[in-house]
Amino acid sequence: ALSSAACGSEREGENPSGGASGGTGGFAADSLIGVALPAKTSENWVLAVDLFTNGLKEAGFQADVQSAGASTTVADQQNQISSMITKGAKVIIIGATDAAQLSAQVDQAHDAGIKVIAYDRLIKGTANVDYYVAFDNFEVGKLQGQALLEGMKKKKPTGPYTIELFSGSPDDNNAGVFFDGAMSVLKPEIDKGNVVVGSGQTQVTQTATDGWKAENAQRRMDALLTSTYGSKTLDGVLSPNDTLARAVITSIKGAGKPIPVVTGQDSEVESVKSIVAGEQYMTINKDTRNLVKASIDMVRALQTGATPTVNDTTSYNNGVKVVPSYLLPPVIVTKENAAEAYANDPTLSALTK
Ligand code: BGC
Repeated sequence: ALSSAACGSEREGENPSGGASGGTGGFAADSLIGVALPAKTSENWVLAVDLFTNGLKEAGFQADVQSAGASTTVADQQNQISSMITKGAKVIIIGATDAAQLSAQVDQAHDAGIKVIAYDRLIKGTANVDYYVAFDNFEVGKLQGQALLEGMKKKKPTGPYTIELFSGSPDDNNAGVFFDGAMSVLKPEIDKGNVVVGSGQTQVTQTATDGWKAENAQRRMDALLTSTYGSKTLDGVLSPNDTLARAVITSIKGAGKPIPVVTGQDSEVESVKSIVAGEQYMTINKDTRNLVKASIDMVRALQTGATPTVNDTTSYNNGVKVVPSYLLPPVIVTKENAAEAYANDPTLSALTK
């Protein structure tokens, strides 16, 4: 089941155990593929485990799919990747727990002739990330910023609007990209005075949520309500994802205040329910099934020695190189279009009925 040794490109530093076809592309169709996912900080990471396990098997590969544990995430993931290298994986797909802490493992993989695909989150600081597969993260942030403005205008036709900003975990490269995307829309409004950040906390360092943990967002929202919203009205909250959106809403409800326009991402079951109930304002649909499929398509291409399809070669610079990327379009979801947006997702569409 070996593919032609003639196609594919020459790699430097070939390890004898690496390529099935002696230094050119392609490997056995039943090869081991490793998938190292981060801690299950949101539903998409839980879904990805089964989707990769089943999808890779259906494609004829052997699969080693691991998630990092909740507390020692970085060390866990480093060990899992090292073990995949030892076991002779031909491709390792990585959803990084910490963008900056994997270059040693990625370099080792490369030296063993293994291709590395960064999944959903970019890996920084190494030339040996071969591909990146993700939803367009900057676009996610833009859509969140736009929806926040639209949602507030619907409730109150004219500003100024008072908002607070939340961002994700600083070790996740996506957190900054989501925030920059949102600020590309919000900053001009802030500069014009149409939008005011009540606390004055506008830097990504001030708005960060360590580990993407709900309790950290809830604690910060509690503190903001006490420091800034004794009498002032909060019109909107930029939340980078659904887990944190629900934490923010819990805090606000706990303080007995009206729920402002709150953004989210991921289309988590509890948030879709909240949107349908009129609490959380919006989310983003990033169908995990499509992202996993796109990743497995890349593996299939690599298996035959072909060059995987990419559609972006300018956006994702990891500090060492621009990583060739395949980006999928995120979809904005509010109460108005939820039924339509989830039409082909049985679990979520049931919630919109
Ligand atoms: C993913 C988001 C997710 C977050 C927390 C990010 O890297 O892109 O979809 O909400 O991690 O798990």
